Amino acid sequence: MSGAEAERERPGVEGGGARGLLVVISGPSGVGKTTIVRHVKEALGAELSVSVTTRPRSEAEVNGVDYHFIDEAEFARRCEAGELLEWARYLDHGYGTPRRPVERAIAEGRIMLLEIDVQGGIQVKQSMPGAFAVFILPPSEQELLTRLRHRRREPEAAIQKRFAKAQWEIARARECGLYDAFVVNRDLDAACAEALALIRRRMDG
Ligand code: 5GP
Repeated sequence: MSGAEAERERPGVEGGGARGLLVVISGPSGVGKTTIVRHVKEALGAELSVSVTTRPRSEAEVNGVDYHFIDEAEFARRCEAGELLEWARYLDHGYGTPRRPVERAIAEGRIMLLEIDVQGGIQVKQSMPGAFAVFILPPSEQELLTRLRHRRREPEAAIQKRFAKAQWEIARARECGLYDAFVVNRDLDAACAEALALIRRRMDG
């Protein structure tokens, strides 16, 4: 189904009773959340927020598509001006969600997806309690460490740093009590289907 068809099939949109939904998807790096986000985006014809970040662009990334890459001064300016719906520091860099596109999408009855870390997810749920927040978990912490090593992207010290961050994120997500659902990614197809089913249930409810 194309995005446009999916959009038309959503109850409430065509009839003018527009009902937007903000969906937060968080989870530690290496857990498969980018694949899950892509799957949900396609299936629902949803929009994906493009964050700002101060981290350097990798070769595979496109400015304005993967992120808006900005410097620290511009990041600080946007935070102070209230232009970011939420923002956080993650492994020495700033990340934030531009506020306006989110507000516009919701007002126009569209589904907006945010792929953001747990600190950002908490801020979104505090300021917009109607948002639906899903946290993706690995089957176990040991399995996550194995997956991070298999990516062969980084030296062991960087992997250990990411792993420690992941353990902190999982603990924070559990204890904050703000995530609406936890999806364990044992099998990627099943996790994609489960996340999608949860969001659909929320849209219908
Ligand atoms: P990466 O540098 O690997 O692309 O992202 C690092 C972490 O920052 C990931 O957990 C990602 O989900 C998170 N992230 C990306 N954009 C945002 C954002 O706008 N706000 C917050 N709070 N986290 C973000």
